[in-house]
Amino acid sequence: MRILLTNDDGIDSEGLLALQRALSPAHDVAIIAPDRNWSISGHNKTMDRPLRVTERHWEGISGWATDGTPADCVSLAALGFLGYKPDLLVAGINKGPNLGNDITYSGTVTAAMEGIISEIPSIAVSIEDYVNWQFDTAAAFITRLVRQVETHGLPPGVLLNVNVPNVPAAQVQGVEVTRLGRRIYHDVLTKRTDPRGRPYYWIGGEIPQSHLDEGTDAYAVANGRISVTPIHLDLTNHRLLDTIRQWDLT
Ligand code: MN
Repeated sequence: MRILLTNDDGIDSEGLLALQRALSPAHDVAIIAPDRNWSISGHNKTMDRPLRVTERHWEGISGWATDGTPADCVSLAALGFLGYKPDLLVAGINKGPNLGNDITYSGTVTAAMEGIISEIPSIAVSIEDYVNWQFDTAAAFITRLVRQVETHGLPPGVLLNVNVPNVPAAQVQGVEVTRLGRRIYHDVLTKRTDPRGRPYYWIGGEIPQSHLDEGTDAYAVANGRISVTPIHLDLTNHRLLDTIRQWDLT
């Protein structure tokens, strides 16, 4: 297959390199990735300025660095930058989990969302830890998952969100197909004063935790398993349609 790789950690991330090395023996792999870190940037498209794209060569491979967002990287490919439309997009390997509520914050997962909007089957892959990432474990699983996607295909409008425990492959406790869980964020608002006496604010706190509901992505990785969650962009609450229709809205 012709596979496009991107990420939100930036083109210099080892996670991108690990995917390239794992997938290039069997596939035609192209890289278009941001020239800087866009983690936690959400689904973000650049329309108020031009995009610059620079060819890069490193570690014996080549790719394209852009000054745009992860979603811009996908748009470039979907709109003809490579001269063909990729058969598959893989975004990652992200240095940190993208579980439950994380997904709309995530530049990694929103790159995959841009992929399915552009009718490119898409996979997002993240490691569920913030240090000493075991990229080989995630890369080896993605090689296997890509073979399955090649065999079975993915329905239009569906991406696979993958989270991988940060352990050597031999210690992975299996693979679980999951639903999205719920994250617990510990954000606090910190108010400080700048040297000119004006207030400024930080939003942030300890790293998030998860509700460990059985069957969720967070539960799977907490138990040492790789989580695969099929995601679509229909955020409609279908159960509420009739209830809201009963409201006096006219
Ligand atoms: Mn990231």
